[in-house]
Amino acid sequence: MSFSLRVGSILFAASLSWFLNPIARSQAAPAAKKLKVYISVDMEGVAGVVTADQLSPTGFEYERFRHFMTNETLAALRAAKESGATEIVVSDSHGNGESLLIEEFPKDVRIIRSWPRHGSMMAGIDSSFDAALFIGYHASTTNMHGVRAHTFSSAHLTRVSLNGNPVTEGEFNAAYAGSFGVPIVFASGDNAAIEELKSRLGNVETAETKKSLSFHSAETLTPEASCERIVAGVKAALARLRDFKPYVVKSPVTVEISFKNYTPAEMLTYLRSVQRVDSHSIRFVGKDMAEISDFVDVVDGYSPDLAP
Ligand SMILES: [Zn+2]
Repeated sequence: MSFSLRVGSILFAASLSWFLNPIARSQAAPAAKKLKVYISVDMEGVAGVVTADQLSPTGFEYERFRHFMTNETLAALRAAKESGATEIVVSDSHGNGESLLIEEFPKDVRIIRSWPRHGSMMAGIDSSFDAALFIGYHASTTNMHGVRAHTFSSAHLTRVSLNGNPVTEGEFNAAYAGSFGVPIVFASGDNAAIEELKSRLGNVETAETKKSLSFHSAETLTPEASCERIVAGVKAALARLRDFKPYVVKSPVTVEISFKNYTPAEMLTYLRSVQRVDSHSIRFVGKDMAEISDFVDVVDGYSPDLAP
């Protein structure tokens, strides 16, 4: 009697029970664990970006930088998949919301584009997600450092605070994700953005894409080196997913917004739910981050010229 024959019959019996017995089957091949990942993508923090020349459709380098932005997103996406991500939603969250080259993405990914949209840079996130990643993020408008540092609008706003603390876009978006119980686990951007975000969110994994030398200058990694750093950071984050807690701000949430100009603050207080804080600032209290997010979108996005 050969050893292999015996092993063969044991294997045959085992595989027969696998087919006949659902319990044996579930033990033998546990269902793949769900890992749903949200990726919010801005552009100012992408390697190489320093001025409007890269950031808007009128800039002479915009078309090339759409590729670099897309590649940094794909690097995060690849790393997430290799770390077990089973579902990925990407939000195109810079400028017109139409910068990512959607044909470059794998076909099992969904991409959120253009505005307005509830949830803004985090549109579509809900409690079914396990983690959120930030790509290409930048420092806040109250930071003295950082390439193209601003909060939601460099043209209009000088300060946005939640419950009394001035926030970055990253912190605001983390609070939005946190209201659904979703933690931010990774962020990429320049050194100022990374430092600022870590000081608010704690020890998230990061990839520094460049060192800010001024508002319009940086010492940058190459696009390829930046993507490598993002892959490593996303993998490190998802390998210790359980370490991260959702970033939650207390409800009801008070938002204060300071404007570069006087009239928006004056006019908005015609709405009885809005208070004037000082010459250039207003305050609004919302029951949760969803209401706060919608309020900020209206304040910064509404104009009677809107069409259609
Ligand atoms: Zn942007």
